[in-house]
Amino acid sequence: MKIAFGCDHGGFPLKEATIAALKTYPEVEVEDLGTFDRDPVDYSDYAIDVAEKIAEGAVERGVLICTTGIGMAIAANRFYGVRAALCEDAGDATKSRAHNDSNVLVLPCIHVKPEGVQAIVDAWMKTEYTGRTIDGMRHARRLAKLDTAKRLSELACLAGVDPEVHAAIRRHTEQEDATVNLIASENYTSRAVREATGSILTNKYSEGYPGRRWYGGCTHIDEVERLAIERAKQLFGAEHANVQPHCGASANMAVYLAALEPGDTILSMSLDQGGHLSHGSKFNISGKLYNIESYTVSKETETLDYEAIAAKAREVKPRLILAGASAYPRAIDFAKFREIADSVGAMLLVDMAHIAGLVAGGAHASPVPYADFVTSTTHKTLRGPRGGLILCKEKYAKAIDRAVFPGLQGGPLENVIAGKAVCFKEALQPEFAQYAAQIVANSKRLAAHLLTNGFRLVSGGTDNHLVLVDMAASGLNGKVAQEALDEAGIICNKNAIPYDTLPTSVTSGIRLGTASVTTRGLKEADMLKVAGWISKILANIGDTNLRKRIRGDVIDFMAQFQTP
Ligand code: PLP
Repeated sequence: MKIAFGCDHGGFPLKEATIAALKTYPEVEVEDLGTFDRDPVDYSDYAIDVAEKIAEGAVERGVLICTTGIGMAIAANRFYGVRAALCEDAGDATKSRAHNDSNVLVLPCIHVKPEGVQAIVDAWMKTEYTGRTIDGMRHARRLAKLDTAKRLSELACLAGVDPEVHAAIRRHTEQEDATVNLIASENYTSRAVREATGSILTNKYSEGYPGRRWYGGCTHIDEVERLAIERAKQLFGAEHANVQPHCGASANMAVYLAALEPGDTILSMSLDQGGHLSHGSKFNISGKLYNIESYTVSKETETLDYEAIAAKAREVKPRLILAGASAYPRAIDFAKFREIADSVGAMLLVDMAHIAGLVAGGAHASPVPYADFVTSTTHKTLRGPRGGLILCKEKYAKAIDRAVFPGLQGGPLENVIAGKAVCFKEALQPEFAQYAAQIVANSKRLAAHLLTNGFRLVSGGTDNHLVLVDMAASGLNGKVAQEALDEAGIICNKNAIPYDTLPTSVTSGIRLGTASVTTRGLKEADMLKVAGWISKILANIGDTNLRKRIRGDVIDFMAQFQTP
């Protein structure tokens, strides 16, 4: 176990005895960060050095000493993941471990003598945290509350400067904690992603690309953007990555700009069948600049009919075929799309915005080997900051980069690019593959329970992170269902289903996704509970009391699952 040690001149008289006491444990490796003599120093420097090591995960624990211990404890406890306990005797040390899982022992030199140190260190080293036992559950509950406070402490300055905005964010934080989020396009980013995204990199203008900027002072910006690019290429096995698009829609526009002339034909899935606005909706610039032809899902199976798509491609001869959707619950066969594109000499764009996290984690086949261009958002299943990404073959790299800047955008959002770099690093870890597999397992289990409870699902089930429920088949509509579930704290969105006869402001369906709840740690068994609530509420749509009761159950249940 690595333990970082720090003291000031006031704590120096206790230093030797404390390090000697720690070294009686053969597993302990002490990293001595000073001070090394009695010359006056600032306690905060040593507390910060030790606490930073813990926050960064470089050491597991720390020990700090100053005259009273108070300054050291205050300073160390400002850091993420630090639980510094000021202990005068072995009893304090025992409780700090058992109840508070303390990872920094703070000793007050005025109360602790060198001959008393070993007993305190022994108590602190030997006592286990009890929060993971049935008896100690109350301690775990109390520590978990500090995690919510940690999220709010990210906004400590904002509270003073702009109480109105702070209060709204605080209320949204409480909403996140107390609801079941089934919005298929959302997720909870890690704190590390939020820190990068909220960082001072927002201050910098950096038009251009690494090594080729229009502004000075971009050395470190270049480091960040290069990391994001290299990680994106590694994560998806791509030849080229552009990490600058501000969002998924602008990533798609950049591909059109790079690959097409105005008036060229794009063959894509229409919005009402599960496609996205930026795939050629007449309300979007994509539908105004290009000639859009649409393919649909089969009326019978509600899945992609590749023969019909091939026939449509032969008929309309597109310059670009677009695969990918916002509300398609089944796996997409990218090899088939490639074949179809080749058969008519078209380029292939895959918009994997919804499934990028599944692709990264190996829970959905990758489009990268097949597509000329792959676009994505970095939020949704990929769990990064809100933003866009383009991957392409090397031969298109220059055209794509030129289309993003200066074609469509000015200065990139380097703080968001830093968040993307962190997201890609997280997605490269082996745990992310488990996460992706769990998203799909949860989605399949949710679908199975809903089917058992009598709902009709579009295509009969799911292969990915989302389930599309036909509310019209249950005598309801998407709007009514969304609003009723919302009252109970189950958040989802109304969604058109293929061949929907209701207007888009109402729709016949709801879309349920499992990426967010999986981040919070819900597993297959928990889907029974979630499906049960949904089924009860929708089967008793007039019963507002039932919704109120379930709202209470949702709050209690979700309190067990931390939001990052
Ligand atoms: N592409 C698909 C398939 C999407 O589902 C979405 C958003 O939901 C987008 C693109 C657009 O992403 P953004 O909202 O970041 O522009």
